[in-house]
Amino acid sequence: MFNNDYFKYVQPACRNWSLIYSGSLLNHEIGHTLSLRHTWNEDDGCLDTPLGNLYDEYKNGVCTLNQRANCWGYDPSIPTCPGSNKGKPCDEWYKISNNMMDYNQYAPHAVTECQIARMNADLTNAGNRFIHSCNGCMPSVAFFQLPDVYYLCPSSPPTGALFLNGTASFNENRWLIDICEVDPANPSVCLGNNINTGWNIGQVGRVNLSSFYTFQPNKHYRVKLIVDNSDCPPSSEFTKVIEVKNCIEPEYPPHESSLQFAATNPFSDHLTVFYTASIPGNLQIRLLNVNTGSISILLPDTEIEPGEYQFYQESSAISSGTYSLQLLFNNYLFAKTIVKP
Ligand SMILES: [Zn+2]
Repeated sequence: MFNNDYFKYVQPACRNWSLIYSGSLLNHEIGHTLSLRHTWNEDDGCLDTPLGNLYDEYKNGVCTLNQRANCWGYDPSIPTCPGSNKGKPCDEWYKISNNMMDYNQYAPHAVTECQIARMNADLTNAGNRFIHSCNGCMPSVAFFQLPDVYYLCPSSPPTGALFLNGTASFNENRWLIDICEVDPANPSVCLGNNINTGWNIGQVGRVNLSSFYTFQPNKHYRVKLIVDNSDCPPSSEFTKVIEVKNCIEPEYPPHESSLQFAATNPFSDHLTVFYTASIPGNLQIRLLNVNTGSISILLPDTEIEPGEYQFYQESSAISSGTYSLQLLFNNYLFAKTIVKP
């Protein structure tokens, strides 16, 4: 049922095996499939879900009265019609819904009693189309995670090996993995160096591909997992093309997941930045005023070890406005928009 949702909404955002962002997208789409509707602007059949705040929308010089706001996030800069007395749409936290069926950048996860009842009704109705059986069980489903790019570093974690994480596959009692060198423009054609493990008994779990396959730098490989439940046909397969590169100095290349951070937002007299580094490196923290373009360096270039950190900044002297908080880590830019009201 959710294949279309997955490829349309979840996979494009799913860069780092993102449980939070992709997970909330999938929850939302599953909600639609189980009869839930958007909460902020329509009759969703539930009286206990929050409607968006009523405001007078002002867009491209055109005024549209009495619109329901849908707040993607806290944003006091959204304008309203001149002279409107209804207030701005998203300038207070109470106006920002955390309901699963709202659109919201903060991983909305709340459901109301009425929404739960609607989903349960869909799942328990006799003859519903979501629960099916074949020989009394559910067919197996293949799924795994592998990095898009694998660097052949002798000491990269864990110990230079490339692990396929297939723990998200389910209901299989046998599995096989097929690896083949391919041209990424035409991954359905195998160029050679093909290895097939044959059927292995049990659940796939984590598999060290380096233990039975020798990856070469500057090549692309198609990795295919087939899982099967001998009592419940059909089998299921999942494929991913990865690129293998030589190790880049320093040993670990900087990449999207090497640093994670969050900050007080909106902030006033104090700004705290929480960050977690998974590799050592050089860090600079700076604040860019989006309106003026001026940059303040909050933390000059500093060598840090992997770990969790808290950076505190007195910010009463910083003027109100919209800022881009930027963490430059090993020359890779991580940025978030933060607001001082
Ligand atoms: Zn929707």
